[in-house]
Amino acid sequence: MIERQESSAEVYERLKIDLRKSIPESVVPDFELKYKAELVSQIMELKRQKNAVILGHNYMEPVLFHTVPDFKGDSLELSKRAAETNADIIVFCGVHFMAETAKILNPSKKVLIPSLDAGCSLAEGIKPANLVWLREKYPHLPIVSYINTTADVKALTDVCCTSGNVNQVIAWAKKYFNVPSVIFLPDKYMAGNVANDLSMDLYFPTQDSVKSEAEVTEKPTIIGWNARCYVHEQYTPQLIEDVRKDYPGAVILAHPECPPNVIAKSDFSGSTSAMTKWVTENGANKKIALLTECSMADNIVTTHPELNENLIRMCNIRCKFMHAITLEQTLDALKFDQYEVNIPKSIRRPAEVAVRRMMAIS
Ligand code: SF4
Repeated sequence: MIERQESSAEVYERLKIDLRKSIPESVVPDFELKYKAELVSQIMELKRQKNAVILGHNYMEPVLFHTVPDFKGDSLELSKRAAETNADIIVFCGVHFMAETAKILNPSKKVLIPSLDAGCSLAEGIKPANLVWLREKYPHLPIVSYINTTADVKALTDVCCTSGNVNQVIAWAKKYFNVPSVIFLPDKYMAGNVANDLSMDLYFPTQDSVKSEAEVTEKPTIIGWNARCYVHEQYTPQLIEDVRKDYPGAVILAHPECPPNVIAKSDFSGSTSAMTKWVTENGANKKIALLTECSMADNIVTTHPELNENLIRMCNIRCKFMHAITLEQTLDALKFDQYEVNIPKSIRRPAEVAVRRMMAIS
């Protein structure tokens, strides 16, 4: 059966019902919703004409998140969707490394990222030359790279991981390579959180001071790197104390990209999908603070309006890279086939091995 295309008036009526649950008219007035409904309608029509699929990360702004994506989720879920799709074009409403991962997994498809400004402070925090240096210093230790890395970094990696499976992947790497210690990069804070979870030591080599491989394998050790997510590092233990003071009994959920002293004061830590699952299953009758990109709370409330009063938002903490993706640019991406993501075969093939290894483990 061919689905009938919604008119912009119908999209507008739907947005008014869905989005008004979480976003009052004072924040997004009706005339703006009408304008966005027109964009949504054009995007849906072009998507159909061009046989495209749109993937939307959990951090997309609410109107985009709840209208145009065929699939929504975290990096791991969207990677799986990208690998499976039969569409001719994949439009990735997320950041650049995610679109690269889609291309790595499904190279015959045209992959588009709607904005060239959609970078990531973690992905920019490590370069291939850094991995070459680490390999030289620690030739027998596996390199586990967070999915938030560029394709050329993944190509020098043994296995990738996401925030949802990092502990599982590191435990796997220790066993598979039969070593007590693992290089994990680039997230400094996640390295600390994993070391705590798996009772491993933590060590950060620098150009000026490098322990030998024998020294870092005396005890199980995570050898980390010094990149940070500029969004999650804004959360502090003081902020958690302030929330607990203002909302006694509040439950604090934190993303593993937050610093270890923040995770230590939180009640739950997990990926964006794990946080969403926790909130929707356990959130009734509780005040909950989500220590992650602010849009996620609005996106949860739109489908679970009963939680609107329960979620404490800290909307000064936003990701400028994720918010570089707009409906306007998504429309232009489909109109003009921009901006296409291409990866040389010499990089794509080894990067695919590292990503598929992760997918097989989790
Ligand atoms: S929230 Fe942090 S990790 Fe995610 S894209 Fe933005 S800078 Fe990168």
